[in-house]
Amino acid sequence: MLYINGEWIDSKNGTFQVTNPATGEILSEVADGTREDTKRAIVAAEEAFHSWSSLTAFQRSDYLYRVYNLMIEKKEHLAEMMTKEQGKPLKAARNEVQYAADFVQWYAEEAKRVYGEVLPAPRGDQRFIVLRQPVGVVGAITPWNYPISMLTRKIAPAIAAGCTIVLKPAEQTPLCAIETMKLFHEAGIPNGVVNLVPTNNPAEVGDELLTNETIKKITFTGSTEVGKMIAEKAARQVKRVSMELGGHAPFIVFPDADPVHAAKGASLVKFLNTGQACISPNRIFVHKSMVEPFTKTLVERVNKMKAGNGLEEGVSIGPLVDRAALDKVNNQVNDAREKGADVVAGGSRLNDDHLKNGYFYAPTVLTNVSPEMKIYREETFGPVAPIIPFETEEEVIAMANDTNYGLASYVYTNNLKTASHMFEKLRFGIVGINDINPTAAAAPFGGMKESGLGREGGREGILEYLDTKLGGFSI
Ligand code: NAD
Repeated sequence: MLYINGEWIDSKNGTFQVTNPATGEILSEVADGTREDTKRAIVAAEEAFHSWSSLTAFQRSDYLYRVYNLMIEKKEHLAEMMTKEQGKPLKAARNEVQYAADFVQWYAEEAKRVYGEVLPAPRGDQRFIVLRQPVGVVGAITPWNYPISMLTRKIAPAIAAGCTIVLKPAEQTPLCAIETMKLFHEAGIPNGVVNLVPTNNPAEVGDELLTNETIKKITFTGSTEVGKMIAEKAARQVKRVSMELGGHAPFIVFPDADPVHAAKGASLVKFLNTGQACISPNRIFVHKSMVEPFTKTLVERVNKMKAGNGLEEGVSIGPLVDRAALDKVNNQVNDAREKGADVVAGGSRLNDDHLKNGYFYAPTVLTNVSPEMKIYREETFGPVAPIIPFETEEEVIAMANDTNYGLASYVYTNNLKTASHMFEKLRFGIVGINDINPTAAAAPFGGMKESGLGREGGREGILEYLDTKLGGFSI
């Protein structure tokens, strides 16, 4: 169903199928939104903008708190839907729903902290006042890998600021988006404030969002390739843009770190969501003296991971999202193998009886990875940990920064000087120092270079939806 102006409606274009990537089973048929549907949603959002932006911040905050409470109440239902539609194990899905709800709660609070400023003016008879106002109607495009939190990370700050929004979810995960939107409906958010247009034709719906003059801001999370195209189109109308794009995170283990502890961290963060995370470590740089103990622990842990349907007890590795994802991972691993890497764990598709209808790839560890391999340069988005030895700090900084991506990075060290040096020198928007989870609703998340523009979360997240207006008063 489409959700437009507070109503659940069908599309003239019919429906498209949504499948479970673990079993191949068809889960549901979803309305296939069109350009016309998108136009209607934009009109509804525009009509709602005036009254929504005129509410007090306290009133908007109350609505968001209601959504938060419903999300916590329905956590189990949302998590089960996510596991079926996206594939991550149930425990990880529960964590994501909590993370998603955290953004709603955080922006329920931040709605009340949109402060202006009074500035010193150059003339004695002049006063400068800065006011922050909502940008208007927002167009949002989201990915499938975090199918609920990537929605609330945009909707919550946008509507807290007083904007209204039209959201296009990824075609692989519209059901999670629909279940999330039901909570906004149940919370009594006025008609037209939030609108959802699922579609199997992202280019058509996306084009309307990008070319319709009513949309004043585009917020996008997805691949760098699509993000560049979107930023380019948005520029034609000088729409404001936020871009959360791909990553190629380095994970660096210095000789003073405990290699077992570091390998434990690597195994937890690398295989989270089957490696399908923008902050997933993609290049694991381990000091030469630590490669052996680090690899031994990592391989031991990887070999204990159980792949399967995320609804089953004990499963820690879900499927990849589709056939294309499986082929990409296979291609990178084969390329690395041909160019001299050693496969010390995994290295192939999982085809056992209970897995053969899903897109499962064995958690994999590669050693002796070198710069001429594809996996050294390309985002993997799969369960493969490539280990690259290094000798000096200078050398590893150069290798880590030698990428057009700049989202997350990780460093393991017990030396304060090294930690502080790395924090300053790494050209990444997020640096985890002995920390594999440097994300939270309160923290600014985002990338440098081709990983993005702007930040989501934290105090900065709401500024993305506000215009700055200067008032000069001659008195
Ligand atoms: P994708 O770029 O293929 O798709 C993302 C969204 O863009 C989807 O909704 C898709 O339907 C839409 N889209 C695709 N073509 C479009 C077009 N022509 N016009 C308008 N919309 C279009 O990316 P994906 O495969 O869904 O997600 C994986 C990528 O997202 C990875 O690169 C990952 O690193 C990145 N990602 C980044 C973050 C972050 O916060 N930086 C978070 C999650 C994922």
